[in-house]
Amino acid sequence: MAPETNQHRLPTDTDTGMLLVISGPSGAGKTTITRAVERAMPGAVFSVSATTRAKTDADVDGVDYHFVSEEQFQQMVERDEFLEYAGVYGKRYGTPRAWVFEQLRRGRLVILEIDVQGAKIVKGKVPEMFSVFILPPSEEELLRRLRSRKREDEQKIQRRFAAAKQEILDAERSGVYDRFIVNNVLEASITEAIGAVQAELNRRSRRG
Ligand code: 5GP
Repeated sequence: MAPETNQHRLPTDTDTGMLLVISGPSGAGKTTITRAVERAMPGAVFSVSATTRAKTDADVDGVDYHFVSEEQFQQMVERDEFLEYAGVYGKRYGTPRAWVFEQLRRGRLVILEIDVQGAKIVKGKVPEMFSVFILPPSEEELLRRLRSRKREDEQKIQRRFAAAKQEILDAERSGVYDRFIVNNVLEASITEAIGAVQAELNRRSRRG
């Protein structure tokens, strides 16, 4: 849950919030940066996706994801409850549409941590979204980080590594991302991400 201090309205003079999409391959530091942006920005809320992937010990149900069965996910698709949904590593992930639009209507900064496929779909539906892609400093460093998480066996790590390289290519070609941030030193990357979001909010509020 977002802390109480994050619950006030954005300092904009319109009723419309901003949709912020953050993507990046696993191991790039995306989740840490996303959560730091959420804590730092007034009025920020994190969109909790539904997923069919298994919950790990690091996950909190309802905070990181809503963990649902294949059947539940399919029902949500059929009821048209997702702003976008995609398959990632054979599992399904989806963004709750009604919640996102309700938060935007309240003037919030709504943060989606989603993959490139999802970002492309959201761009088609909400072209005014602001999007950031987090890059690892190098391929070698990405592989080292994936291994150091000790979350998976080597075969899965290699699969994520190949997928990560592909995702970076897709992101660069997509034309969807406003900013690419190379996460070399975490604290500096957090500052850069917060600065980029703040600059965009300022730009929009000046524009009126
Ligand atoms: P993980 O299982 O490691 O938490 O996430 C795997 C990938 O799925 C990450 O790239 C993450 O950003 C992405 N993801 C998480 N939620 C969503 C969602 O609702 N939609 C889409 N398209 N991707 C998501």
